[in-house]
Amino acid sequence: ARSFSHPVCAAVAVAGEGAVLPLASGRPDGWFESDGQITKRPIRALTLSALAPRPFEHLWDIGGGSGSVGIEWLLCDPTLDASTIEPRAERAARIAANAARLGAHRLRVVEGSAPKALAQLERPDAVFIGGGLSRELLDWLDNHLPEGTRLVANAVTLESEALLTEAQARRGGELLRIALSSAEALGPRRGWKAAYPIVQWSHVT
Ligand code: SAH
Repeated sequence: ARSFSHPVCAAVAVAGEGAVLPLASGRPDGWFESDGQITKRPIRALTLSALAPRPFEHLWDIGGGSGSVGIEWLLCDPTLDASTIEPRAERAARIAANAARLGAHRLRVVEGSAPKALAQLERPDAVFIGGGLSRELLDWLDNHLPEGTRLVANAVTLESEALLTEAQARRGGELLRIALSSAEALGPRRGWKAAYPIVQWSHVT
């Protein structure tokens, strides 16, 4: 086996001949084992772009799911750090396995719920909310995040969308609504199958 120091090269070595992990964020969903709870590839690409990692920064990935966002953050650069918070034990274990397999060993997996589990973490430079969005969480982040932290939150339900539209009215930042469709079979022909629209709030505290 060849050995590589760069995490992306390590992932290539693990995957073996033929399967080469792409270099850009928004990698195919199939690279991440999941139970279906995963931020899908195009949304993940836009999310990493909004999170905008810079060297030596630390991400909080709240609502880890499969770990795909924290893992892709780490794959951007070897100087980056990330912690992911996930309450469900089987998902936390899957996140750790995905991180190890893809060369993102540095991912710190915290089994717990936000905001409670956040108090023990080193301060972040960027925060992603992919699950567990609540008024309580937004208020906690308001009170605890250092000024200048980049916050990105994705909402799929009307209830979480309402929290984000209210948060943007009060605190500022940008709202982006991402409504994607892909072509699928419709009887013998094809039609656009719409995914649930995602509302994304990006804000610098
Ligand atoms: N971004 C993830 C998918 C997130 S799905 C990925 O790409 O894989 C949302 C996740 O949030 C679920 O796994 C759920 O268990 C988790 N979650 C729900 N409430 C939470 C809370 N209060 N704190 C942290 N995570 C939470």
